[in-house]
Amino acid sequence: MASRGVARMDAPPTVIGLPVVLIVVGTRPECIKLVPLIRALRERGSLRPLVVNSGQHREGVREVMASFGIRADIELEALPPLASLRAASDRLRERLRAVIDAAAPARVVVQGDTLTAYAGARAAADAGCRVVHVEAGLRTDSVKDPFPEEWFRRRIARLAELHCAPSASAVDNLLREGVDPARVHRTGNTAIDCLRELVGTWADGDSAAPGTRNTVVVTLHRRENWGGNADVICDALLEIAARRPALRFTFPVHPNPRVAPRIRERLEGKRGFDLVAPMAYGAFVRAAAAAALIVSDSGGVQEEAPHLGTPVLVPRTNTERPEALATGFVRLVVADREHLVAAALTALAAPRRPPLPFDDAAPFGAGDAGRRIAELLEADVAAESHCLAERRHDSAAPPASPARAAVGP
Ligand code: UDP
Repeated sequence: MASRGVARMDAPPTVIGLPVVLIVVGTRPECIKLVPLIRALRERGSLRPLVVNSGQHREGVREVMASFGIRADIELEALPPLASLRAASDRLRERLRAVIDAAAPARVVVQGDTLTAYAGARAAADAGCRVVHVEAGLRTDSVKDPFPEEWFRRRIARLAELHCAPSASAVDNLLREGVDPARVHRTGNTAIDCLRELVGTWADGDSAAPGTRNTVVVTLHRRENWGGNADVICDALLEIAARRPALRFTFPVHPNPRVAPRIRERLEGKRGFDLVAPMAYGAFVRAAAAAALIVSDSGGVQEEAPHLGTPVLVPRTNTERPEALATGFVRLVVADREHLVAAALTALAAPRRPPLPFDDAAPFGAGDAGRRIAELLEADVAAESHCLAERRHDSAAPPASPARAAVGP
Protein backbone atom coordinates (compact mmCIF):
# COMPACT_ATOMS: atom_id res chain seq x y z
CA MET A 1 0.00 0.00 0.00
CA ALA A 2 2.73 2.51 0.95
CA SER A 3 4.15 2.35 -2.55
CA ARG A 4 0.76 3.37 -3.94
CA GLY A 5 0.63 6.71 -2.16
CA VAL A 6 -0.67 5.66 1.25
CA ALA A 7 1.25 7.52 3.93
CA ARG A 8 -0.52 6.13 7.00
CA MET A 9 -3.18 3.54 7.75
CA ASP A 10 -4.18 3.12 11.38
CA ALA A 11 -6.24 -0.02 11.50
CA PRO A 12 -6.99 -2.71 8.95
CA PRO A 13 -10.72 -2.20 8.41
CA THR A 14 -11.55 -5.89 8.10
CA VAL A 15 -10.80 -6.70 11.76
CA ILE A 16 -13.72 -4.62 13.01
CA GLY A 17 -16.43 -6.81 11.53
CA LEU A 18 -18.97 -4.10 10.63
CA PRO A 19 -19.69 -3.04 7.06
CA VAL A 20 -17.21 -0.32 6.19
CA VAL A 21 -18.23 3.06 4.83
CA LEU A 22 -15.24 4.78 3.28
CA ILE A 23 -15.48 8.54 3.72
CA VAL A 24 -13.24 10.49 1.38
CA VAL A 25 -12.06 13.93 2.48
CA GLY A 26 -9.73 16.23 0.56
CA THR A 27 -10.37 19.87 1.47
CA ARG A 28 -11.50 22.05 4.38
CA PRO A 29 -15.16 22.40 3.33
CA GLU A 30 -15.47 18.66 2.68
CA CYS A 31 -14.06 18.06 6.11
CA ILE A 32 -16.44 20.47 7.86
CA LYS A 33 -19.36 18.97 5.96
CA LEU A 34 -18.45 15.33 6.60
CA VAL A 35 -17.72 15.62 10.32
CA PRO A 36 -21.45 15.42 11.24
CA LEU A 37 -21.81 12.20 9.24
CA ILE A 38 -18.64 10.66 10.69
CA ARG A 39 -19.86 11.47 14.19
CA ALA A 40 -23.37 10.17 13.54
CA LEU A 41 -22.04 6.88 12.15
CA ARG A 42 -19.65 6.47 15.09
CA GLU A 43 -22.41 7.16 17.60
CA ARG A 44 -24.88 4.78 15.98
CA GLY A 45 -22.31 1.99 15.70
CA SER A 46 -23.89 -0.19 13.02
CA LEU A 47 -21.51 0.82 10.23
CA ARG A 48 -17.79 1.47 10.47
CA PRO A 49 -16.79 4.85 9.04
CA LEU A 50 -13.28 4.70 7.65
CA VAL A 51 -12.00 8.19 6.99
CA VAL A 52 -9.39 8.82 4.31
CA ASN A 53 -7.52 12.11 3.91
CA SER A 54 -6.89 12.15 0.16
CA GLY A 55 -3.84 14.41 0.36
CA GLN A 56 -5.38 17.15 -1.83
CA HIS A 57 -5.04 19.74 0.96
CA ARG A 58 -3.53 17.36 3.45
CA GLU A 59 -2.43 19.76 6.17
CA GLY A 60 -5.63 21.83 6.01
CA VAL A 61 -7.74 18.70 6.41
CA ARG A 62 -5.58 17.52 9.31
CA GLU A 63 -6.08 20.83 11.09
CA VAL A 64 -9.84 20.97 10.56
CA MET A 65 -10.23 17.35 11.65
CA ALA A 66 -8.17 18.00 14.76
CA SER A 67 -10.35 20.99 15.62
CA PHE A 68 -13.33 18.61 15.65
CA GLY A 69 -11.41 15.95 17.60
CA ILE A 70 -11.21 13.58 14.62
CA ARG A 71 -8.25 11.89 12.95
CA ALA A 72 -8.25 10.25 9.53
CA ASP A 73 -7.84 6.46 9.61
CA ILE A 74 -5.90 6.60 6.36
CA GLU A 75 -3.74 9.42 5.10
CA LEU A 76 -2.54 9.52 1.53
CA GLU A 77 0.63 11.31 0.58
CA ALA A 78 0.23 15.03 -0.11
CA LEU A 79 -0.82 15.55 -3.71
CA PRO A 80 2.08 17.25 -5.51
CA PRO A 81 1.39 20.17 -7.85
CA LEU A 82 0.61 18.51 -11.18
CA ALA A 83 0.54 19.94 -14.66
CA SER A 84 -3.19 19.61 -15.20
CA LEU A 85 -6.46 18.88 -13.47
CA ARG A 86 -6.58 15.66 -15.46
CA ALA A 87 -3.19 14.54 -14.18
CA ALA A 88 -4.18 15.37 -10.60
CA SER A 89 -7.47 13.55 -10.99
CA ASP A 90 -5.75 10.45 -12.42
CA ARG A 91 -3.22 10.41 -9.57
CA LEU A 92 -5.86 10.70 -6.88
CA ARG A 93 -8.10 8.18 -8.54
CA GLU A 94 -5.31 5.60 -8.65
CA ARG A 95 -4.44 6.16 -4.98
CA LEU A 96 -8.03 6.02 -3.83
CA ARG A 97 -8.59 2.87 -5.86
CA ALA A 98 -5.78 1.20 -3.91
CA VAL A 99 -7.50 2.17 -0.66
CA ILE A 100 -10.87 0.89 -1.88
CA ASP A 101 -9.36 -2.41 -2.98
CA ALA A 102 -7.75 -2.85 0.44
CA ALA A 103 -10.74 -1.72 2.51
CA ALA A 104 -13.52 -3.38 0.48
CA PRO A 105 -16.10 -0.88 1.73
CA ALA A 106 -19.85 -1.39 1.45
CA ARG A 107 -20.16 2.24 0.33
CA VAL A 108 -17.86 5.11 -0.65
CA VAL A 109 -19.08 8.53 0.47
CA VAL A 110 -17.95 11.64 -1.39
CA GLN A 111 -19.00 15.20 -0.65
CA GLY A 112 -19.64 18.14 -2.90
CA ASP A 113 -17.76 19.04 -6.04
CA THR A 114 -14.02 18.84 -5.42
CA LEU A 115 -11.27 17.02 -7.26
CA THR A 116 -11.19 14.54 -4.38
CA ALA A 117 -14.94 13.93 -4.56
CA TYR A 118 -14.75 13.27 -8.29
CA ALA A 119 -11.66 11.07 -8.08
CA GLY A 120 -13.20 9.15 -5.17
CA ALA A 121 -16.41 8.54 -7.08
CA ARG A 122 -14.50 7.40 -10.17
CA ALA A 123 -12.27 5.09 -8.14
CA ALA A 124 -15.28 3.56 -6.41
CA ALA A 125 -17.13 3.06 -9.67
CA ASP A 126 -14.01 1.46 -11.21
CA ALA A 127 -13.89 -0.94 -8.26
CA GLY A 128 -17.61 -1.75 -8.59
CA CYS A 129 -18.35 -0.10 -5.27
CA ARG A 130 -21.48 1.94 -4.59
CA VAL A 131 -21.11 5.70 -4.34
CA VAL A 132 -23.04 7.95 -1.97
CA HIS A 133 -23.00 11.65 -2.84
CA VAL A 134 -23.42 14.12 0.01
CA GLU A 135 -24.51 17.60 -1.08
CA ALA A 136 -25.86 16.20 -4.33
CA GLY A 137 -27.81 18.13 -6.94
CA LEU A 138 -26.34 21.63 -6.72
CA ARG A 139 -26.35 23.13 -10.21
CA THR A 140 -25.80 26.34 -12.06
CA ASP A 141 -27.11 26.68 -15.59
CA SER A 142 -23.66 26.29 -17.15
CA VAL A 143 -21.36 23.28 -16.99
CA LYS A 144 -18.39 25.63 -17.38
CA ASP A 145 -19.29 27.98 -14.57
CA PRO A 146 -18.04 27.50 -11.98
CA PHE A 147 -15.36 25.29 -13.45
CA PRO A 148 -14.42 22.62 -12.53
CA GLU A 149 -16.94 22.34 -9.68
CA GLU A 150 -20.04 22.18 -11.88
CA TRP A 151 -18.48 19.56 -14.14
CA PHE A 152 -17.38 17.47 -11.16
CA ARG A 153 -20.78 17.45 -9.52
CA ARG A 154 -22.60 16.52 -12.72
CA ARG A 155 -20.20 13.64 -13.29
CA ILE A 156 -20.49 12.46 -9.70
CA ALA A 157 -24.30 12.41 -10.03
CA ARG A 158 -23.92 9.88 -12.85
CA LEU A 159 -21.70 7.65 -10.74
CA ALA A 160 -23.63 7.85 -7.46
CA GLU A 161 -26.34 5.43 -6.36
CA LEU A 162 -27.56 7.41 -3.38
CA HIS A 163 -27.98 11.17 -3.62
CA CYS A 164 -28.23 13.23 -0.41
CA ALA A 165 -29.58 16.57 -1.55
CA PRO A 166 -29.22 19.58 0.75
CA SER A 167 -32.20 21.58 -0.50
CA ALA A 168 -35.45 21.48 -2.47
CA SER A 169 -33.85 22.89 -5.63
CA ALA A 170 -31.10 20.27 -5.47
CA VAL A 171 -33.75 17.51 -5.38
CA ASP A 172 -35.51 19.09 -8.39
CA ASN A 173 -32.26 19.31 -10.34
CA LEU A 174 -31.54 15.62 -9.87
CA LEU A 175 -35.06 14.56 -10.79
CA ARG A 176 -34.93 16.74 -13.90
CA GLU A 177 -31.76 14.92 -14.93
CA GLY A 178 -33.59 11.61 -14.69
CA VAL A 179 -32.15 10.28 -11.44
CA ASP A 180 -34.41 7.61 -9.91
CA PRO A 181 -36.57 9.44 -7.31
CA ALA A 182 -36.17 6.49 -4.93
CA ARG A 183 -32.44 7.24 -4.78
CA VAL A 184 -32.79 10.98 -4.05
CA HIS A 185 -33.30 12.18 -0.48
CA ARG A 186 -33.56 15.69 0.86
CA THR A 187 -31.39 15.58 3.94
CA GLY A 188 -30.42 19.21 4.51
CA ASN A 189 -26.82 20.37 4.45
CA THR A 190 -24.40 18.98 7.00
CA ALA A 191 -22.72 22.44 7.13
CA ILE A 192 -25.76 23.58 9.09
CA ASP A 193 -25.21 20.80 11.65
CA CYS A 194 -21.75 22.16 12.44
CA LEU A 195 -22.95 25.74 12.46
CA ARG A 196 -25.89 25.05 14.72
CA GLU A 197 -23.70 23.22 17.19
CA LEU A 198 -21.14 26.01 17.21
CA VAL A 199 -23.62 28.85 17.57
CA GLY A 200 -25.26 26.91 20.39
CA THR A 201 -22.03 27.16 22.37
CA TRP A 202 -22.00 30.97 22.25
CA ALA A 203 -23.41 32.27 25.47
CA ASP A 204 -23.78 35.79 24.13
CA GLY A 205 -25.37 35.15 20.72
CA ASP A 206 -22.58 36.86 18.84
CA SER A 207 -19.72 39.09 19.74
CA ALA A 208 -20.82 42.53 18.49
CA ALA A 209 -23.25 44.91 20.11
CA PRO A 210 -25.66 46.65 17.72
CA GLY A 211 -24.07 49.67 16.08
CA THR A 212 -20.52 48.54 16.83
CA ARG A 213 -19.97 46.38 13.79
CA ASN A 214 -16.98 47.71 11.95
CA THR A 215 -15.44 44.67 10.26
CA VAL A 216 -15.77 43.22 6.80
CA VAL A 217 -14.75 39.58 6.37
CA VAL A 218 -13.41 38.67 2.93
CA THR A 219 -12.59 35.31 1.30
CA LEU A 220 -11.67 34.64 -2.31
CA HIS A 221 -10.60 31.37 -3.85
CA ARG A 222 -12.73 30.38 -6.84
CA ARG A 223 -11.07 29.80 -10.17
CA GLU A 224 -13.19 32.51 -11.84
CA ASN A 225 -11.59 35.02 -9.44
CA TRP A 226 -7.98 33.91 -9.88
CA GLY A 227 -7.01 36.35 -12.60
CA GLY A 228 -7.96 39.97 -13.23
CA ASN A 229 -11.11 39.62 -11.14
CA ALA A 230 -8.98 39.31 -8.00
CA ASP A 231 -7.39 42.69 -8.82
CA VAL A 232 -10.75 44.33 -9.45
CA ILE A 233 -12.18 42.98 -6.20
CA CYS A 234 -9.11 44.11 -4.23
CA ASP A 235 -9.33 47.59 -5.77
CA ALA A 236 -13.01 47.78 -4.83
CA LEU A 237 -12.13 46.80 -1.25
CA LEU A 238 -9.50 49.54 -1.14
CA GLU A 239 -12.08 52.08 -2.26
CA ILE A 240 -14.60 50.89 0.33
CA ALA A 241 -11.85 51.22 2.97
CA ALA A 242 -11.10 54.77 1.79
CA ARG A 243 -14.78 55.76 1.93
CA ARG A 244 -15.42 54.12 5.30
CA PRO A 245 -12.15 54.60 7.22
CA ALA A 246 -13.55 53.11 10.44
CA LEU A 247 -13.88 49.69 8.79
CA ARG A 248 -11.37 46.87 9.31
CA PHE A 249 -11.09 44.11 6.74
CA THR A 250 -10.31 40.60 7.98
CA PHE A 251 -9.11 38.61 5.00
CA PRO A 252 -8.06 34.97 5.50
CA VAL A 253 -6.05 34.44 2.34
CA HIS A 254 -6.53 31.07 0.64
CA PRO A 255 -3.13 29.36 0.20
CA ASN A 256 -3.66 28.74 -3.52
CA PRO A 257 -0.52 30.11 -5.26
CA ARG A 258 -2.67 31.36 -8.13
CA VAL A 259 -4.59 33.76 -5.91
CA ALA A 260 -2.60 34.47 -2.72
CA PRO A 261 0.33 36.47 -4.24
CA ARG A 262 -2.09 38.70 -6.18
CA ILE A 263 -4.06 39.54 -3.07
CA ARG A 264 -0.97 40.12 -0.96
CA GLU A 265 0.56 42.33 -3.60
CA ARG A 266 -2.50 44.58 -3.67
CA LEU A 267 -3.58 44.63 -0.03
CA GLU A 268 -0.61 43.77 2.21
CA GLY A 269 0.16 46.63 4.60
CA LYS A 270 -2.80 48.73 3.44
CA ARG A 271 -4.60 50.68 6.14
CA GLY A 272 -7.50 48.73 7.64
CA PHE A 273 -6.51 45.37 6.14
CA ASP A 274 -5.60 42.29 8.17
CA LEU A 275 -4.43 39.58 5.79
CA VAL A 276 -4.31 36.38 7.79
CA ALA A 277 -3.83 32.66 7.21
CA PRO A 278 -7.00 30.55 6.76
CA MET A 279 -8.75 30.74 10.12
CA ALA A 280 -9.86 27.87 12.32
CA TYR A 281 -13.53 27.14 11.65
CA GLY A 282 -14.78 28.40 15.02
CA ALA A 283 -12.81 31.64 14.78
CA PHE A 284 -13.90 32.24 11.21
CA VAL A 285 -17.58 31.76 11.96
CA ARG A 286 -17.28 34.00 15.00
CA ALA A 287 -15.70 36.72 12.87
CA ALA A 288 -18.38 36.26 10.21
CA ALA A 289 -21.13 36.61 12.83
CA ALA A 290 -19.59 39.77 14.25
CA ALA A 291 -18.98 41.36 10.84
CA ALA A 292 -21.02 44.16 9.29
CA LEU A 293 -20.55 42.55 5.88
CA ILE A 294 -18.96 39.54 4.19
CA VAL A 295 -17.51 39.63 0.69
CA SER A 296 -16.91 36.05 -0.41
CA ASP A 297 -17.05 33.74 -3.41
CA SER A 298 -17.32 30.71 -1.11
CA GLY A 299 -20.20 28.29 -1.42
CA GLY A 300 -20.25 27.34 2.23
CA VAL A 301 -20.35 30.92 3.41
CA GLN A 302 -23.58 31.46 1.43
CA GLU A 303 -25.18 28.69 3.47
CA GLU A 304 -23.86 29.88 6.81
CA ALA A 305 -24.21 33.67 6.70
CA PRO A 306 -28.05 33.83 6.78
CA HIS A 307 -27.97 31.93 10.10
CA LEU A 308 -25.49 34.47 11.44
CA GLY A 309 -27.53 37.44 10.25
CA THR A 310 -24.62 38.85 8.22
CA PRO A 311 -25.15 40.06 4.64
CA VAL A 312 -22.88 38.59 1.96
CA LEU A 313 -21.83 39.98 -1.39
CA VAL A 314 -20.78 37.17 -3.70
CA PRO A 315 -18.51 38.27 -6.55
CA ARG A 316 -19.75 35.66 -9.00
CA THR A 317 -22.12 35.66 -11.96
CA ASN A 318 -24.24 32.78 -10.66
CA THR A 319 -24.77 30.52 -7.69
CA GLU A 320 -25.72 26.89 -7.25
CA ARG A 321 -27.50 27.94 -4.06
CA PRO A 322 -30.58 29.91 -5.20
CA GLU A 323 -32.15 29.44 -1.77
CA ALA A 324 -29.37 31.54 -0.29
CA LEU A 325 -30.35 34.43 -2.57
CA ALA A 326 -33.98 34.00 -1.55
CA THR A 327 -33.11 34.56 2.11
CA GLY A 328 -32.22 38.17 1.23
CA PHE A 329 -28.87 37.89 3.04
CA VAL A 330 -26.90 36.84 -0.04
CA ARG A 331 -26.46 38.90 -3.20
CA LEU A 332 -24.50 38.23 -6.38
CA VAL A 333 -22.33 41.09 -7.59
CA VAL A 334 -20.34 41.24 -10.81
CA ALA A 335 -16.63 41.72 -10.32
CA ASP A 336 -16.75 45.37 -11.29
CA ARG A 337 -15.23 48.00 -9.05
CA GLU A 338 -18.05 50.55 -9.12
CA HIS A 339 -20.75 47.97 -8.79
CA LEU A 340 -19.05 46.28 -5.87
CA VAL A 341 -18.40 49.52 -4.01
CA ALA A 342 -22.02 50.66 -4.45
CA ALA A 343 -23.39 47.28 -3.33
CA ALA A 344 -21.11 47.27 -0.27
CA LEU A 345 -22.06 50.80 0.81
CA THR A 346 -25.75 49.96 0.43
CA ALA A 347 -25.39 46.76 2.45
CA LEU A 348 -23.41 48.56 5.17
CA ALA A 349 -26.10 51.23 5.49
CA ALA A 350 -29.04 48.79 5.69
CA PRO A 351 -30.48 47.86 9.10
CA ARG A 352 -29.37 44.48 10.39
CA ARG A 353 -31.96 41.71 10.14
CA PRO A 354 -32.31 38.91 12.69
CA PRO A 355 -30.53 35.69 11.73
CA LEU A 356 -32.46 32.87 10.12
CA PRO A 357 -33.51 30.35 12.79
CA PHE A 358 -32.31 26.74 12.65
CA ASP A 359 -35.58 24.97 11.84
CA ASP A 360 -37.19 22.82 9.18
CA ALA A 361 -38.23 25.89 7.20
CA ALA A 362 -34.57 26.89 6.72
CA PRO A 363 -33.40 26.32 3.12
CA PHE A 364 -30.50 23.99 3.96
CA GLY A 365 -32.18 22.12 6.78
CA ALA A 366 -32.45 22.33 10.53
CA GLY A 367 -28.98 21.02 11.35
CA ASP A 368 -29.69 17.27 11.54
CA ALA A 369 -28.39 16.23 8.13
CA GLY A 370 -25.59 14.02 9.52
CA ARG A 371 -28.06 11.83 11.39
CA ARG A 372 -30.41 11.68 8.40
CA ILE A 373 -27.64 10.58 6.05
CA ALA A 374 -26.39 8.00 8.55
CA GLU A 375 -29.92 6.54 8.74
CA LEU A 376 -30.16 6.40 4.96
CA LEU A 377 -26.81 4.63 4.75
CA GLU A 378 -27.82 2.09 7.36
CA ALA A 379 -31.10 1.36 5.57
CA ASP A 380 -29.35 1.12 2.21
CA VAL A 381 -26.65 -1.26 3.41
CA ALA A 382 -29.19 -3.34 5.35
CA ALA A 383 -31.46 -3.62 2.29
CA GLU A 384 -28.54 -4.87 0.25
CA SER A 385 -27.51 -7.43 2.88
CA HIS A 386 -31.09 -8.64 3.04
CA CYS A 387 -31.22 -8.95 -0.72
CA LEU A 388 -27.90 -10.85 -0.77
CA ALA A 389 -29.10 -13.18 1.99
CA GLU A 390 -32.26 -13.90 0.01
CA ARG A 391 -30.25 -14.66 -3.08
CA ARG A 392 -28.00 -17.02 -1.13
CA HIS A 393 -31.03 -18.70 0.38
CA ASP A 394 -32.60 -19.09 -3.05
CA SER A 395 -29.48 -20.59 -4.57
CA ALA A 396 -29.22 -23.10 -1.70
CA ALA A 397 -32.90 -24.07 -2.07
CA PRO A 398 -34.20 -26.87 -4.37
CA PRO A 399 -34.64 -25.81 -8.02
CA ALA A 400 -37.36 -23.19 -8.26
CA SER A 401 -40.65 -23.94 -9.92
CA PRO A 402 -41.01 -22.29 -13.36
CA ALA A 403 -43.47 -19.77 -11.91
CA ARG A 404 -41.07 -18.76 -9.12
CA ALA A 405 -38.10 -18.63 -11.47
CA ALA A 406 -40.03 -16.23 -13.69
CA VAL A 407 -40.45 -13.81 -10.77
CA GLY A 408 -36.69 -13.81 -10.06
CA PRO A 409 -34.87 -13.01 -6.85
N1 UDP B 1 -13.88 28.72 6.59
C1 UDP B 1 -12.96 28.50 7.62
N2 UDP B 1 -11.86 29.32 7.69
C2 UDP B 1 -11.62 30.33 6.81
C3 UDP B 1 -12.57 30.54 5.76
C4 UDP B 1 -13.68 29.72 5.68
O1 UDP B 1 -13.12 27.60 8.42
O2 UDP B 1 -10.62 31.03 6.95
C5 UDP B 1 -15.02 27.80 6.49
C6 UDP B 1 -16.37 28.43 6.28
O3 UDP B 1 -17.00 28.68 7.52
C7 UDP B 1 -17.11 27.35 5.49
C8 UDP B 1 -16.01 26.69 4.68
O4 UDP B 1 -14.80 27.02 5.32
O5 UDP B 1 -17.65 26.37 6.35
C9 UDP B 1 -16.01 27.20 3.27
O6 UDP B 1 -14.87 26.77 2.63
P1 UDP B 1 -14.37 27.36 1.23
O7 UDP B 1 -14.82 28.77 1.12
O8 UDP B 1 -12.91 27.07 1.17
O9 UDP B 1 -15.02 26.43 0.14
P2 UDP B 1 -16.43 26.35 -0.58
O10 UDP B 1 -17.50 26.39 0.44
O11 UDP B 1 -16.50 27.46 -1.57
O12 UDP B 1 -16.39 25.03 -1.28
